[in-house]
Amino acid sequence: MSGLLTIAGLGPGSAALVTPEVSAALADATDVLGYAPYVARVAPREGLRLHPSDNRMELERAGEALNLAAEGRNVVVVSSGDPGVFAMAAAVFETLESYPQWQDVAIRVLPGVTAMLAAAARAGAPLGHDFCAINLSDNLKPWSTIEKRLRLAAEADFAIALYNPRSASRPAGFGRALEILTEAGCGERIIIFAHAVTTPRERVEALPLRDARPEMADMATLVIVGNSATRRVGRWVYAPRRAS
Ligand code: SAH
Repeated sequence: MSGLLTIAGLGPGSAALVTPEVSAALADATDVLGYAPYVARVAPREGLRLHPSDNRMELERAGEALNLAAEGRNVVVVSSGDPGVFAMAAAVFETLESYPQWQDVAIRVLPGVTAMLAAAARAGAPLGHDFCAINLSDNLKPWSTIEKRLRLAAEADFAIALYNPRSASRPAGFGRALEILTEAGCGERIIIFAHAVTTPRERVEALPLRDARPEMADMATLVIVGNSATRRVGRWVYAPRRAS
């Protein structure tokens, strides 16, 4: 029996943004694993086993998925957005590194629309010039690394996408991030708060960074800090394609 492990991105929320390739993989799957709210986005059907699990169970989930695929099952691990962006694909490869017995399992990674791109499209074109993405969660890296990356990204004049900006377990980090960006001279830059984009709860707001408050972000928000040239045209925000 030759099983298959597919690591797939479900996009930011709207069913219209699930790629046809990912839909086809889900239609063929025998098992779907993932964080419970993402597995809940997969329609149940006869012959499909759903395996929802808790947040922060990435390595256990990856091991279970590799094991099922090694037994010959057609397994799909789901992430929101893109599976390679702060998500399950890296967790599967970390697990593979530790368990050589799964080295021969067939694996494929199917891209999805990451939150940053869906948020940028709603605002206009804030990623039209050079940009970077930073995960503000300090679960898997020290906060000092996050501070350093924020400072250097501001100095390099990148537009900055911030994932996982603020959670109940980390209420202070995002406020500190705003302080660091202000100290780095970004107070006049435009900041975009894109909440639950492409879902019925979507809300998108753009304002000068100096007016931003930490409570404007939560775990369903993708934040984009513009570069120094990012500007408004009508209701849109965009980064010009040229830089000095
Ligand atoms: N793999 C995902 C990111 C997982 S990290 C992707 O590629 O999009 C989870 C973070 O993504 C959230 O804290 C939030 O910052 C962002 N996010 C995910 N879905 C979102 C949505 N619909 N709207 C805004 N931000 C979203």
